[in-house]
Amino acid sequence: MAKTEFMKFAYFDKEIVEFEKATVSIATHSLQYGTTCFGGIRGYYRNGKVAIFRLKDHYTRLMSASKMLGFEYFITWDEFKDIVTELVKKNDIKEDFYMRPFVFCKEPRLSPKKAGLDFDLAIYMLPLADYVSSEGGLNLMSSTYRKYNDSAIPTKAKAGGSYINSFLATSDAQRNGYDDALMFDDAGNVVEVSVANIILVYRGQIIIPDTGNAALEGITVRSALELLEYNGYKINRGKIDRSMVFTADELLVTGTAMKITYAESLDRRPIGQLDFNAKPEAGKFHKLLKSEYEKVINGEHELSSEWLFVVE
Ligand code: PMP
Repeated sequence: MAKTEFMKFAYFDKEIVEFEKATVSIATHSLQYGTTCFGGIRGYYRNGKVAIFRLKDHYTRLMSASKMLGFEYFITWDEFKDIVTELVKKNDIKEDFYMRPFVFCKEPRLSPKKAGLDFDLAIYMLPLADYVSSEGGLNLMSSTYRKYNDSAIPTKAKAGGSYINSFLATSDAQRNGYDDALMFDDAGNVVEVSVANIILVYRGQIIIPDTGNAALEGITVRSALELLEYNGYKINRGKIDRSMVFTADELLVTGTAMKITYAESLDRRPIGQLDFNAKPEAGKFHKLLKSEYEKVINGEHELSSEWLFVVE
């Protein structure tokens, strides 16, 4: 796989520094115990301007995670947006990109306990065009690793250490020739894809999983649901089992990196077709959402001004 190229400047230790100089000890608490929370944000370069998708919502989710995890790190929205603005300008952006803010602890420490540790913010950026190919959808495998629930780790926090769950699921799926893994809770209800949310279209109804909130509160799925409501569709919340996915009209998959895509198959059964050997195709809701999302990021949607943070 190609090496990831990062942008020249990052935010680290309360200042903008060259990416290579933003380094920590191998014994840091965050590296040893996964004590981080992070965000993944997309920015677009359109008509000579940088527009960041739902920056304030990402800020809120990051600070909420820091609070839930007890990191005791907080900065205000004004401080956060000023840092992001300065970093974007310093990197002189002229392409679509991905931004990774995270709260972490760089102190070397042997024990996992929190006492006496300070957490801080860092941000790095990288160019990112489309993460999944625009042709076709994902071939998913039912993961044998269950999604953890909120009684073990706060599921609303993008907590670094919890991604070992996504790592196990997605690596197994890819090792077996699939694109990604569909995650279930302990009772066998569908929760999400390893790093993306799902929306099921089943017998014409739009359903999102009601699994006691085991899924991350994704910002892309929230946007997709708001776009569906904007277009007059009703959203239902309910339990989704594997059989429903096999026989669904569509399984939409949403996430910052993937944007809005769909699953072509689950465990080699095509989704949206009765014939086991049929060739899967994108469905009507996928097409609608993809075009609505493109309008939003191109500044051509009524919701664009609400959702895009334009760096002036
Ligand atoms: N679930 C998990 C576990 C994720 O890591 C992500 C990616 N952040 C998502 C869902 C999708 O969330 P978002 O749309 O905010 O990127």
